[in-house]
This record gives sequence, structure tokens and C-alpha cells, in this order.
Amino acid sequence: MIRTASAIDIQRVKRSRLPETDLEHLKFGRVFTDHMFVMDYADGAWQQPKIMPYGDLELSPATLVLHYAQTIFEGMKAYRDDQGRVNLFRPQANIARMARSAVRMCMPPVPEDTFLEGLKELVRMDAAWIPQGADAALYIRPFLFASDEYIGVKPSEGYRFMIFICPVRGYYQEPLRVKLELEYSRAFPGGTGEVKCGGNYAGGLYPSKMGQDIGYHQNLWTDAMEHKYIEESGTMNVFFIIDGVLTTPSLDGTILAGITRDSILTLAREKGLKTAERKITVDEVVTGIRNGRVSAAFGAGTAATIAPIKVVGYKGEDLQLPDLGADSEVNLIGKMLDDIRRGHKPDTHGWVVGTE
Ligand SMILES: *Cc1c(COP(=O)(O)O)cnc(C)c1O
Repeated sequence: MIRTASAIDIQRVKRSRLPETDLEHLKFGRVFTDHMFVMDYADGAWQQPKIMPYGDLELSPATLVLHYAQTIFEGMKAYRDDQGRVNLFRPQANIARMARSAVRMCMPPVPEDTFLEGLKELVRMDAAWIPQGADAALYIRPFLFASDEYIGVKPSEGYRFMIFICPVRGYYQEPLRVKLELEYSRAFPGGTGEVKCGGNYAGGLYPSKMGQDIGYHQNLWTDAMEHKYIEESGTMNVFFIIDGVLTTPSLDGTILAGITRDSILTLAREKGLKTAERKITVDEVVTGIRNGRVSAAFGAGTAATIAPIKVVGYKGEDLQLPDLGADSEVNLIGKMLDDIRRGHKPDTHGWVVGTE
């Protein structure tokens, strides 16, 4: 059955929290808009979708997700364009990725039409929360979790799907210092590295904290088998410019298939930049930074957008990357992406989806 937006039960806040919210000084992910979307899965079917005031959940202590982490999420952004319209960037790609994550985690995929309609309605309702400024956006967090009250390792029968929104500005304020992680692993072949599931991030906290304790923003993960190949960093895919080629690790199952990554590769190819998706060794990056063949490195993801990397930590040594000039490929690509998101340039890919 196809639901239309009018089929969503909508309960508005009596009074918006926006007037007392400081949108100038936002900490990423700590401020939430007035409303949230909720839809339960029960008795083998999706139930009535609802939008209601943002607020706490009441859960049984035995709720399955709290014990066995059967949960997946997405991260996407809405931007205000020059005409004042509020647009989503490639939401269908997030919806499709969440459906793939759901299959891997034995969860029911959320129907695409209900997901997209709920998302648009919610963003429309809370659009006034988008801060002013070049790096401002609404960060949108859809997630799905096992809601059965049951202690036992098996897929839940009931699930809850929710979407909430955070007004945000930039994620990283400065170029990144990343540490090559040559001991711990984030993902392994046959595991869940390519899935946006909660457990992946919990397992990374300890090694990341050890890196942060010695002054790095993030770890640069390497493959679990040999710690020989570079994978990704935090919630970002990574790119290196090696001998003038925009190079990123190929998607071999242990890396999250980023939508930012895909957008960058698409735009770079159209611009005529040389690109490569392949295995990248730790050795070639370490040697390449030393001898200048690696001229730039950056992380790419929805939250961080494009985050230049200035230092790669390797076995206690800080390898320094050159400062990016205003005309560097990295800034060029960032600008191309931003121009599309904000409607400065025509969207020839159908990436921008209006909420009106
Ligand atoms: C979300 C995420 C990314 C980036 O994906 P985008 O679709 O570009 O936001 C990269 N790596 C990991 C581990 C992630 O969780």
C-alpha cells in the first residue's frame, strides 16, 4: 500500500523551542529540532507513521537493542539554497543504503515512499531551524532498532524507525591529524564494515580514544588481516592525491560506501580529473608523503563534508602534508559539491530533492 504524506499522523509542539535556541554557537549533534518521525514495525507490518514533538523514549530494560546492538542508522543533510528553498541531498541513496544495512542485520527495510515522505514532511515542519551561514545545514538522523522486550540472541520481531534532526555547522574546525592504526581493527572480511550499524562504532571507541589521548582527531583504519592497506577514518571515507591522481580505497566489503565519496568521484571524473579506486598501501602513503608524491589527503562524509588532513601519524612520527592552496583540487571538489547542494550550479544528476 502506498501511503501519502497526508497519511502521517501529525502532532505539533504547542510552543517551539527555537526562540530560546542559540543557532550561532552550535555543538554538532547536541541541539535537536521540535519534531521527530516515528514508525513501528509490529505483527509483520509497518504501522501508522507519526510526527510528534521531539522527546524521550520509554523503553523496557530488556529491549533487545540495548543488549545485542541490532540497530542501524543513516546520516544525511538538508541545505537552504539561494532561493530560500530547503533541499535534501541524495536522500534516495541514503534510503537504499539503509535498506541494504537492514538486510545484513535481519531487519525489515523501511518502505522507500513512506521514508521519503516522512523525511520531507519533518524537514518542512522544522525548516526554520536551519542556521544562517555557508557551513550551516540540518543534519538528519534516521535510525532503526530492535524493540522487542526479550533477552535472547535472535532477530527482534518488533522494530522502531525514527528520524530526528540537528541544526549544525562545520564538524571539524581545523585540518585533521589522523593516526595510522596498525594494531586494532574496525572491520574485517565477512563482517559488518560496509553496514552503518551501531556496533561498528562502539568497537572503534577504545582505539580512537588512545589516538585522541596523544593528540590525533581520528584513527586511519587499516585492513584487519595485515594492517597493510588503508581503509577509512571515523565516519569518513579517505582520499589521497597520489602522483596527481585522486585515489581512494576500493569498496571491498570492509569500507562504508559513502555517498559523499561517490559524489566526489562522479564530479571529479566529469571535471576530467584522474581518479582511481584501488587498494592503497600504508607503505605508499608513508613513503609518498615523505617524497612528495602524495600531495594531499582528506576525509569525506556527510557530517564532516570534506575535511583536509594535515598530519598522518605513523609509528610515533608525524608525517606532514603540505598546506592546501586555494586552487588545490581538494578545494575545487569541495566547491563543486557545495555549489550543487546550495543550488549555485545546475544539478545535472538529480541529486537535489526539494521538500516543498
Ligand atoms: C557514514 C560513514 C561514511 C560516510 O558516508 P556518507 O554517505 O558520505 O555520509 C564513511 N565511513 C563510515 C564508517 C561511515 O559511518
